[in-house]
Amino acid sequence: MKLVRHLANLGYGSRKDVQRLIRQKRVTDTDGRALSDHELIPHEAIRIDDKPLDPPQGSVILLNKPAGYTCSSHDQGRLVYELLPDRFRFRKPAMSTVGRLDRDTSGLLLLTDDGTLLHKIISPKSNVAKIYEVTLARPLEGNEGDIFASGSLMLNSEKTPLLPAEMEVIGEKCARLTLHEGRYHQVRRMFAAVGNHVEALHRSKIGELTLDGLEEGHWRLCDKSDIAKIL
Ligand code: URA
Repeated sequence: MKLVRHLANLGYGSRKDVQRLIRQKRVTDTDGRALSDHELIPHEAIRIDDKPLDPPQGSVILLNKPAGYTCSSHDQGRLVYELLPDRFRFRKPAMSTVGRLDRDTSGLLLLTDDGTLLHKIISPKSNVAKIYEVTLARPLEGNEGDIFASGSLMLNSEKTPLLPAEMEVIGEKCARLTLHEGRYHQVRRMFAAVGNHVEALHRSKIGELTLDGLEEGHWRLCDKSDIAKIL
């Protein structure tokens, strides 16, 4: 792929914009040598204004989502894409969230432009554990863990019971819940089904992947060892 197309697909502007950057000698290799449109050196060796390029196509991004940001433009609130560089909106293929977190849920959110990987992770067959830290409005009754583990809890308007989920009591009004599927508003609906109300929800882990070292509102690129933790 030509340099112009590669940079345009990464969201650095229209082809004309990118051609202008090349003419202005702002696109260089790591030694500062200006590149022409006809050469394409490895992605990692390209610089624009002396800065490395955004992650290449086929990347997975780990975002520590703050509450108040939404994954869908159909919902009200700021979009999670506002936490990424502006250019990411114009990438081809687009970066999609891997599943969704509600606007009021914080924590671990993955985004990718790799359709195959996306389907692998969200497929019902994947069974990868998603771990949530839950803060409740009322004290736990004591029977919630057994109900969630039973594999027979039916949520309103669902046709099949929930898969067994594991719950750990962390405090009077705090629990850690491990799910092996991802239904709409699942955690909030599970606690509503047992007469409680979720006040705050945070996803801390998918598989073995955590947010360690990543501040709220920040993102980083996943490497192969990260991906191995979720597949
Ligand atoms: N369950 C919910 O209720 N909300 C989320 O955002 C994720 C899981």
